[in-house]
Amino acid sequence: MKFRLSTLLRTGAAVAALGVSTLALSQAAFPDKPVSLIVPFAAGGPTDVVARMIAIPMGKALGQTVLIENAVGAGGTIAATKVARAAPTGYTIFIHHMGMSTAPALYKKLSFDPLKDYEYIGQVVDVPMTLLARKDFPPTNFPELAAYLKANGNKVSLANAGLGAVSHLCGLLFMSQMGVELNTIPYSGTGPAMNALLGGQVDLLCDQTTQTVPMIKDGRVKVYGVTTLNRLSALPNVPTLSEQGLKGFEVKVWHGMYAPKGTPAPVIEKLNAALRAAMQDPVIKQRLAELSSDIPPMDKISSAGLKTHLEAEINKWGPVIKKAGIYAD
Ligand code: ASP
Repeated sequence: MKFRLSTLLRTGAAVAALGVSTLALSQAAFPDKPVSLIVPFAAGGPTDVVARMIAIPMGKALGQTVLIENAVGAGGTIAATKVARAAPTGYTIFIHHMGMSTAPALYKKLSFDPLKDYEYIGQVVDVPMTLLARKDFPPTNFPELAAYLKANGNKVSLANAGLGAVSHLCGLLFMSQMGVELNTIPYSGTGPAMNALLGGQVDLLCDQTTQTVPMIKDGRVKVYGVTTLNRLSALPNVPTLSEQGLKGFEVKVWHGMYAPKGTPAPVIEKLNAALRAAMQDPVIKQRLAELSSDIPPMDKISSAGLKTHLEAEINKWGPVIKKAGIYAD
């Protein structure tokens, strides 16, 4: 059989056109099945709480269920790697906090690049932290805590969610400003770390208000302070760590939503529209306000808003972490 070049070219063009229109059709139909939202920490913890909260209104906006999948370990880097390697279809998306910006400096070998391996859906929420102890931990206030830690040093245990988790960063900042070295114990998320605190297996934990406000209000844990410069409306009687002597102590945890690099722009736009809808949902707004967590301005709930913020945070944290000499092999 003979092929003419012109026939071949025409066929090729038709096939290419078919490919393009199939792609355009599949993007227009997105999503026609559930979307997986990967959470890098254990179920029940603060990141999981935020993800499950927004998955419902996002799903409503998309017309499909948004399923939560917890992929835990190594301070969130296991999930970040999984998402970087996932098919860029929009059916796998990812929520992570500021650990995305500290990982490049903390991990000597990182199998993803936060600035090259993702598409950016938008910033999600800014969450303060609280310094907690098990209910029967002896110090009853911050001055007593300071004295107790000086006397007992690494006999005191401090839980966290692994290297690069915000509980880890908050703990590092706390130990360095207090001038003490505590016995740090890693968990797969602060959900399990909180269970250990409630069970009396660890002494201290620094964790986001998205998990801790109800525990503090119910008196299930002891609280020594909040990590913002001003007191929180959700916990007006809890002093800041800064006002109790740790001058300028401030940790507020920003979150972002990502998709694998190459996810088509129209799909990212749909996901962004769903995220924005979720962040404007009155129920979400009220729940986040009750947890003293802030919804970013709308221009930050955007691809450019998240990417610019991530870049700035990588540049901010890199030198700080390198100077402190903390890293994992
Ligand atoms: N609080 C986070 C979580 O488990 C982990 C962390 O970054 O400390 O959701």
